[in-house]
Amino acid sequence: MPTPIVSKRAPIYADIPDEKWNDWRWQLSHRLNTAEDIEKVLPLTDSERKALQTQGLFRVDVTPYFISLIDPNDPDDPTRKQIIPVSEELNAFTSMMEDSLAEDRHSPVPGLVHRYPDRVLMLVTTQCASYCRYCTRSRIVGDPGQTFNRQEFEMQIEYLKNTPQVRDVLLSGGDPLVLAPKVLEELLTRLREIPHIEIIRIGSRVPVFMPMRITQELCDMLAKFHPLWLNIHVNHPNEISLELAEACDRLSRAGIPLGNQSVLLAGVNDCAHLQRELVQKLTRIRVRPYYLYQCDLVEGAGHFRTPVAKGIEIIEALRGHTSGYAVPQFIVDAPGGGGKIPVMPNYMLSMSDHKVIVRNYEGYVTTYEEPTEYKSHDPKTCKFCQNKRPEPGQTGLTGMLDGEQLFIKPEGFDELHNRGGGQHRLRDENKWKPLGIGSGETD
Ligand SMILES: *Cc1c(COP(=O)(O)O)cnc(C)c1O
Repeated sequence: MPTPIVSKRAPIYADIPDEKWNDWRWQLSHRLNTAEDIEKVLPLTDSERKALQTQGLFRVDVTPYFISLIDPNDPDDPTRKQIIPVSEELNAFTSMMEDSLAEDRHSPVPGLVHRYPDRVLMLVTTQCASYCRYCTRSRIVGDPGQTFNRQEFEMQIEYLKNTPQVRDVLLSGGDPLVLAPKVLEELLTRLREIPHIEIIRIGSRVPVFMPMRITQELCDMLAKFHPLWLNIHVNHPNEISLELAEACDRLSRAGIPLGNQSVLLAGVNDCAHLQRELVQKLTRIRVRPYYLYQCDLVEGAGHFRTPVAKGIEIIEALRGHTSGYAVPQFIVDAPGGGGKIPVMPNYMLSMSDHKVIVRNYEGYVTTYEEPTEYKSHDPKTCKFCQNKRPEPGQTGLTGMLDGEQLFIKPEGFDELHNRGGGQHRLRDENKWKPLGIGSGETD
């Protein structure tokens, strides 16, 4: 039987009138952030109390709605671990970094991360409705002093106007849906004035932390900016409440395709069976699981990390075992700024010149006979090949397959292999250029 989708309210909020409880402004202004506040809802552990009393800790704030999802009698409650700090947050670990994805290095202007050829990440605020303890952007998030000003916003817009290769803008932060409605509307209007921006995406945990913010009025406003996509962030089936289901329904009816991004977290969702329940419950509320992230090497998140193998195990338990629509991509976001790297179980077991051996989720092993007569696709007569978008310096392996380059070398490769010798008669550069015989793709 599917688990029921329910509504919860902590006993201390029992007498709050519904008009207040369902008003997102009330939720925001009644967020809990001290040991004293939180103690009124659930008894704190020593580790939690110590963390809450530590100076310089990553910001704490929890909406009354979200804290109500916690079972107060369970110190290991999965919702609790995501938003109430513990003293392990203060522990350092090997390879821990402040900006593990090197986002600031990929920012041509403050708050705009241009990592991939055709899309950018635009950080529009540092504020959130509540703060996830494993935040990958804890270096700036939560700090009102780090938030982006008017001048920086104008620089972001200017960069986008001058960069026609960008066809997709992903708004994040912080959480774009905590911006004042007028500010968000102006931002979207300014983006829509740029003709080469085809799609706008929003990454937001507001539907999860504060579903009452997803009013019909907000949905109507967002619907003016289509095509607009939205990813939410649910980590555990307990977060899928009646209120979240209704908020997602309003967003879907406004024509906004919904996806979910989860983070794989030790003690929260590092169980294949829990993940199956999560992704199935998400599809019931018309949210498509998009990514499951390996936890980043970020300060404060060490105690949440799992081995990468846990993610492989989870995908093994999902693919084939449940609807394809419900299976996210498991992603390791490469430390140092390499970007998102999908990682998955191996389904390809072996191959010869005419067949491949593949296996399915049940361990059924089969062969696929390759065609003996395949008329190669001809890039010279294909209009898509002729009109391909430029990706200056970023075509990578697809560029190698396209014949743009023969090899990719690590930095310093040529100097190292020169072994201190100079240019001599046997070192003619042309030796390593293809002679142009054959496919014609390499000329
Ligand atoms: C995640 C991310 C994107 C979007 O990646 P998709 O795989 O297209 O969802 C874009 N830019 C940056 C910097 C990102 O981290």
